[in-house]
Amino acid sequence: MSLDMDAAHPVLEIKGLTKRYGDFTAVSDLALAVPRGEIFALLGPNGAGKTTTLRMLMGILRPSSGTASVDGLDCFQDRCAVKQHVGYLPDEPVFYDYLRGREILRFVGEMHGLDPAEIDRRSEPLLERLELADALEEYAVNYSKGMKKKLALLCALLHDPALLILDEPTNGLDPYATRSLLEIVREKVADGKTVFYSTHLLDQAEKLCRRVAILFKGRLAAVGTLDELRAARGGSLEEVFFAVTGGAAPPGNAPA
Ligand code: ATP
Repeated sequence: MSLDMDAAHPVLEIKGLTKRYGDFTAVSDLALAVPRGEIFALLGPNGAGKTTTLRMLMGILRPSSGTASVDGLDCFQDRCAVKQHVGYLPDEPVFYDYLRGREILRFVGEMHGLDPAEIDRRSEPLLERLELADALEEYAVNYSKGMKKKLALLCALLHDPALLILDEPTNGLDPYATRSLLEIVREKVADGKTVFYSTHLLDQAEKLCRRVAILFKGRLAAVGTLDELRAARGGSLEEVFFAVTGGAAPPGNAPA
């Protein structure tokens, strides 16, 4: 299938997506289409609305207006069904503290209808690659930030979702785990999956992605392939980022 046909059938479609908290608009009239089989980065300075957007995609937040859909399923109305197609890595994963790593994997896998042997079969290679195997009998309350992130990534991958939604995926990871995570992401895309992730790391986005969007004060400030954006602005992604975010001060209007 050509890239143009892929673009005509995006896995993730966002139309007019808006989130207001009282008088404050965190995300405003966002429109994006994410083609299947790509790594798509959502960039933006602190407070731009990236996490709010991802939470709406996961049905955790109800949009004030507009819609988002994954393979035609509405991200809010059909949020349970959407979770069968999506693996979500939150920026700050939260677990039941007094479950062991192994029990958390079992719990999440069984929610997806996997039996224990299949959960072990799927998780073992990833546990080795992420160097988490030795911590499986430990309680999550004792996990470091990076260990929690690794466990959350495993949970997001267990059901082999078509779309991965990753919020600051390498935040808190050491260089070894960062390298492993990026390799896993690339393998998923080579396998036909789609990855949508938010990051502050422009060099990482530049290395990984074909297409990026830049949010600023809740609005889409730029979107396109890296080549399109660089050609339009005549510079690196960093120069594009600073140009469209006006020096990148965080939003001045405080939440109501
Ligand atoms: P960062 O890069 O710092 O993680 P972000 O781009 O993910 O930032 P969001 O967390 O989506 O930004 O926040 C966008 C804006 O919405 C911020 O100004 C934030 O203060 C505001 N906001 C987020 N959640 C709420 C809430 N529950 N109530 C009021 N305002 C909120």
